[in-house]
Amino acid sequence: MKRIGAGIRSLGLPAIEKISEEQSGTAFHVLIATMLSAQTRDPVTLEASTRLFAKAPTPEAMAKLSEAQIEKLIYPVSFYRNKAVHVKAACRKLLAEFGGVVPSTMDELLTLPGVGRKTANLVRIVAHKRPDSICVDTHVHRIANRLGWVRTRMPEQTERALYEVTAKKWWSRINLYLVTWGQHVCKPVYPRCPHCPVLPLCPRIGVTRVSKT
Ligand code: SF4
Repeated sequence: MKRIGAGIRSLGLPAIEKISEEQSGTAFHVLIATMLSAQTRDPVTLEASTRLFAKAPTPEAMAKLSEAQIEKLIYPVSFYRNKAVHVKAACRKLLAEFGGVVPSTMDELLTLPGVGRKTANLVRIVAHKRPDSICVDTHVHRIANRLGWVRTRMPEQTERALYEVTAKKWWSRINLYLVTWGQHVCKPVYPRCPHCPVLPLCPRIGVTRVSKT
């Protein structure tokens, strides 16, 4: 983690951290951007979120948009039709049951339409600064397995396993570090092992082909 932390300093922040830190995004913005980010490339998430928040910066304003308006604003994020439905429903639920405030507990977050453990954990970490969550997406799942930290088949298993094998002081940083690493160095196909500062420590489990650049 220390080597990866040093390695990501010169690399760009992932979309959700950018929205939170560079655009001073609220917890609501972090929640909605994370919902939009599923299976969508970071630049697309960032542009779609920025368009949506410019039109509707609060749950009140967003709940007033029609699903068709939300679709148009967030296109071309993947599954934009489903996501528009979930975004509107989540805004309505936030207003009806949480006073328009994004909750911070896992149980409450999971009651919001379209919110699963990955989104809930990232909201807890990025928006609420909780130190007791690990957010596992495909990058975290893949790299934790390549590094030999865990041996799991599904991200949900990886989350459970990481709580067992990693020190708590790193939990809230695992997602930021490994997502950034996965976007730039330990890519899904052709990871850049020859130039990776973690190479001396990495068993490279499951890696069969590497990038030459
Ligand atoms: S050495 Fe290769 S597999 Fe291991 S972390 Fe670096 S890029 Fe990933």
